[in-house]
Parts: sequence; C-alpha cells; structure tokens
Amino acid sequence: MADQTAGGRHPNVHFPPIANGLDYLDSVVEHLSGEPTIRDLKYAVLHLQSATEVLLKARLQQEHWSLVFKDPGRADRGRFESGDFESCTTSEALSRLRGIAGIHMSEGDAKEIDRLAKWRNALQHHGLTAPALAVESRAAQVLDILLKFLTDELLAELDEAGDADYRVTHIRHIHYRLGRIHAFVKTRMDRLRADLEPLADSTVTCPECDQPTVPLRPSPPACRCCEVVWDTAEELAERYAQRPWGAQLQHPRGRGHSPVRQCPACGVDALVLRACTAAAPEQPVPLCFGCCREFPRSNARVLAAIR
Ligand SMILES: [Zn+2]
Ligand SMILES: [Zn+2]
Repeated sequence: MADQTAGGRHPNVHFPPIANGLDYLDSVVEHLSGEPTIRDLKYAVLHLQSATEVLLKARLQQEHWSLVFKDPGRADRGRFESGDFESCTTSEALSRLRGIAGIHMSEGDAKEIDRLAKWRNALQHHGLTAPALAVESRAAQVLDILLKFLTDELLAELDEAGDADYRVTHIRHIHYRLGRIHAFVKTRMDRLRADLEPLADSTVTCPECDQPTVPLRPSPPACRCCEVVWDTAEELAERYAQRPWGAQLQHPRGRGHSPVRQCPACGVDALVLRACTAAAPEQPVPLCFGCCREFPRSNARVLAAIR
C-alpha cells in the first residue's frame, strides 16, 4: 500500500511501513472472518507475522533507523534507504523495543508474539500442524496485542504529525471486525465446552493449545480444540507434566527422570501427580491419564508411587 501523503512532514515518523502493516492486518482480519478454511488460517498466520514484523520495526525506526539492522554497529544509511540489508529478527526487535525504546510489553504478550514467529517458521517448513480453533484463537490474541501496540506506541506519533484521521478510521474498522472474530471464536469454544461438559471429570488442559479440551477417553487421547492426537496415555501424561501447570515434585533420582509415575491401579506409567480436570480447574490432584482414576493425596499407594 503506497502512501505519499505524509512524506517529509514529520521526519521521524515512517508512514509507509505503518500503512503496510495496516494492510497486512486488514488481510488477517479478512482471512479470520466467518468460518475460515485451513488455507485462510495459513494466510492469517503468515500475514499476521508480517504485520508484527513491520509494525515493531516501524516503532524501532522512530527511535533510530540503524536499530532495524541485524548489527546496528555496521548500519549504513545508503543501504537502509535502498532496503538492501539484513534486518534483525522479530524477537530481537521486541527486545530492543523494550530495552532501548523503553516500551512496556508484558511477558505474556511478548511470549505470544514469539510463539507466532515459531508457528510461522513451522508452517513454512511443514504446513499447518495446529489446525482450526487453536490457530484462530491465538491469532485473534496476537491481533489484540498489535492493535494495542499501534494505539499506544505508533498512533501517538501519528497524532502529533496531524495526519492520523485515515488510519484511526481504518483501525476502528479493524477493531470492529476483531470483535466479531472474538465472538465467533467464543461461540465455537462454548459449543465445544458444552459438548465436553459430561466428560469434565476426566478432561484436562491441552499441553499444545492451553485449552481445557482433552478428554482422556476414548483412547488414544486427542484435543478437541487443536486436534493434536497422542499415541498413548503415557505420551500425553509426559507432555502434560512438562508444562508449567503440570509441574511435579522433583523426581528422587534428580533431573532427567520422568516426573510421571506408575499408576497403582492400572500399572500404566501415566499417573500425573498434579493434574487439574475441567470439573475442578483450581484443584490439582493425582490423576491417572490411563484409567482416569483420581486419587486422594493421602492414598498410601500413591505415596508409595511417589517415593
Ligand atoms: Zn489442544
Ligand atoms: Zn491408572
């Protein structure tokens, strides 16, 4: 999207990258609207990543043009003007924004952006591996973060330049459509939760997409949100225990040993000592991902398994 209207009026504000970023955001919203196909989700992730990169770097350029170089110490104005240079990565841009430009972005938001960059890379090499609802809901979250970044960090400069009307209207439009995307995601998520309600006692949080959408039965377990399937209950238990909410007591033989124990009831190595079910998300209990048995913490056989 070419934009010459503001050229030269405010030398520190680089309008073309912002307009370019908005154009990408527009495309993301378009791809996410309605009932997106796998192809829509693919382009939503690709364009969302491009928007992130362009917008973060636009803000970095406001600080100083050399900061978008991979190595600012070897930055060259001529190469910057012609666009002929290797630029820094998204996560490097983010850390420079926080460290040099003093931009406040929460740890959680920074992680979401990081995760998006990883998805983009995975997608380019292997296609989309986390389909459907999970991609859609994460993408909507990153869109939220970017719109906030635009408003707080980039639009303030645009306002000063007195040329923000077009983009403010544009962003309002994107906000409006984002609201609708969230509503769609929520409707589908509510429908999924209602389907899983009768299984809440034996449904756990997915270690891939963070949603409480993995019923332990039938076997093999599969996430109803991101559709990841684990070959066995042991494999799911292992993966679950690696996530922060599955953090275990340290294994007596130290690091490197599995924190998952053998179930005293069914003998399968799938007893997770601190698992939360969708029925009681705040109360971790020893739960076997194989036979779905839940044990009281005082159970002598569980205590023996822990030792
Ligand atoms: Zn999942
Ligand atoms: Zn068991």
